[in-house]
Amino acid sequence: MTPHALNGLDWLRPDLLGSTKLVGVMGWPVGHSVSPPMHNAAFRHLGLDWAYVPLPVLPAEMPEAVSGLRALGFVGANATVPHKRMLYDLVDELTPAARAIGAANTLYIRSEGLLGHNTDAAGFSRALREADMPPEGCHALVLGAGGAARAVVYALASSAASVTILNRTPKKAEALAHAMSFEASAYIEAGSLDRETLARLSAHVDLVVNTTPLGMWPHVERSPWPEELLFPREASCYDLVYNPRRTQLLRQAQLAGAAISDGLGMLVHQGAEAFELWTQKRAPVDIMRAACEAVLEP
Ligand code: NAP
Repeated sequence: MTPHALNGLDWLRPDLLGSTKLVGVMGWPVGHSVSPPMHNAAFRHLGLDWAYVPLPVLPAEMPEAVSGLRALGFVGANATVPHKRMLYDLVDELTPAARAIGAANTLYIRSEGLLGHNTDAAGFSRALREADMPPEGCHALVLGAGGAARAVVYALASSAASVTILNRTPKKAEALAHAMSFEASAYIEAGSLDRETLARLSAHVDLVVNTTPLGMWPHVERSPWPEELLFPREASCYDLVYNPRRTQLLRQAQLAGAAISDGLGMLVHQGAEAFELWTQKRAPVDIMRAACEAVLEP
């Protein structure tokens, strides 16, 4: 999304009343988050007196910010970069997904305490199914071993996929593989994200998931897949990047004849999971997707 893409979208802004229930997103920076228009469109569509606001929070001020949200009567909040680990440490209780992933991107403020949840894994799983890329029993290559990869590997391992994590810094991939071997049945290995490893593994892979930021705006010409290596045509390719939607990696995969999907589905479904936790209502996923499409570059 270019810095000006949110201009002229006043129809996505909520009307604020004394009765309005508040949620928001804590990040640093947070100005270009797509979550406010996505959630506000959903509230408006369902006629809910709710509003979702961007909350710029400096990393050192997360504890005060979370206490402040409770004092101000917020129902909850999302946490984005760089706050997901910090939110994990600040809540009273964690869901099993947040505990296994080691990060919380969603806060639910209840009278009995603060609940931390991670909606990225469920969002990724829902998006894979929607893209007709069922993970059960497949061999998946996960490119990258950062925060998003933790949720992706957790989701894949929970679906009995066998997973190979490849990262620029192989030690981090190894640490992630070790941390995610929570199920005796989960088969997870790790290696280096380089041409030789990709060439060796590409004949035996069903799904390639990019969790690195390579290809993201403004460096749209970059890709984690080497230019001179043909993408495996029998594999599917899921790129977590959604800005732009058609990344260089997806172009390479499409050129080889592979099935592709961009990261918009995961963005929408992780938001839908948080929406449903807070409101206890089914999220209007199509409305949320349309709101994201209205603010993102094609
Ligand atoms: P992160 O924690 O910073 O991890 C980044 C990963 O990418 C690390 O493994 C890093 O390798 C690797 N990497 C970074 N630059 C690289 C380069 N030049 N060459 C090779 N590898 C490189 O970031 P994150 O939070 O996981 O987010 C990653 C991406 O996922 C972002 O683009 C984010 O927008 C996207 N995302 C999308 C969704 C969605 O809903 N669609 C949700 C979450 C995240 P090293 O370990 O070697 O540094």
